[in-house]
Amino acid sequence: MNHLLLFPEDRAEDGRYVVDDARAQHLLEVLGVAVGATVRVGILDGPRGEAEVTAVEGRQVTLRLRPDLAPAPAPDVDLLLALPRPRSLKKLLPEVTALGVGRIVLTETHRVEKAFFGATFLKPESYRPLLHEGLMQARLTMEPEVVVERRIWRFLDDEVPARYAHHMKLVAHPGAPTPLAQVTIAAEQPVLLAVGPEGGFLDKEVERLVQAGFRSVTMGERPLRVETACVALLAQIDLLRQQAQL
Ligand code: SAM
Repeated sequence: MNHLLLFPEDRAEDGRYVVDDARAQHLLEVLGVAVGATVRVGILDGPRGEAEVTAVEGRQVTLRLRPDLAPAPAPDVDLLLALPRPRSLKKLLPEVTALGVGRIVLTETHRVEKAFFGATFLKPESYRPLLHEGLMQARLTMEPEVVVERRIWRFLDDEVPARYAHHMKLVAHPGAPTPLAQVTIAAEQPVLLAVGPEGGFLDKEVERLVQAGFRSVTMGERPLRVETACVALLAQIDLLRQQAQL
């Protein structure tokens, strides 16, 4: 945990924040904080900065925010993700959150196992703690929005033109003709990235995505696991942005 994530419900009437769950346990037992200590904090979907520990009572820690909080960066990549098996999704959610994803649209393609849509893990109370874990890891505060949209064609026909007209749209496909390394991404250019299921996209699905404005890109011939591919793709997109600024 690189900063403590605070939620609206932690806020007491006097404006201080009170935590008494695993976060308090971490503060007390791992970081060994005591009254007067300074702790890095982030407010969910809000600013981040520092707080002072003003009271410790049993397993309850009270914090007062310091006034100079700063806005946390807004993520600039959205993910269109063919729904992976729950085990993979559990691994990838904290990682992609830490790498800065704004919205994760879980969708169905031909090779997605239909039963995965019935997984209890798709309930917000199951996956949100993993998003929070990613935020605390990377000192971020903006919780990604997770949306289940099974009908990928509806998403491409309706939502892409309405919401993603000005995004750079990329579909990751090991057999694509264009290396991702050859793509120029301006620092301020938002990106919508499509990642396929375990068995990959069908060629006709890639063609349909290309018709909807996506560029088909590869990181090389090696087909990576979905969770590895997502991390590598987001890291490479970040690098391309940084290179565009040099
Ligand atoms: N055999 C499948 C294929 O060739 O498409 C492998 C699919 S891979 C396990 C799952 C998804 O991760 C792919 O659909 C793609 O979106 C992404 N991916 C994995 N390796 C990739 C690579 N080397 N380049 C681009 N995308 C990759």
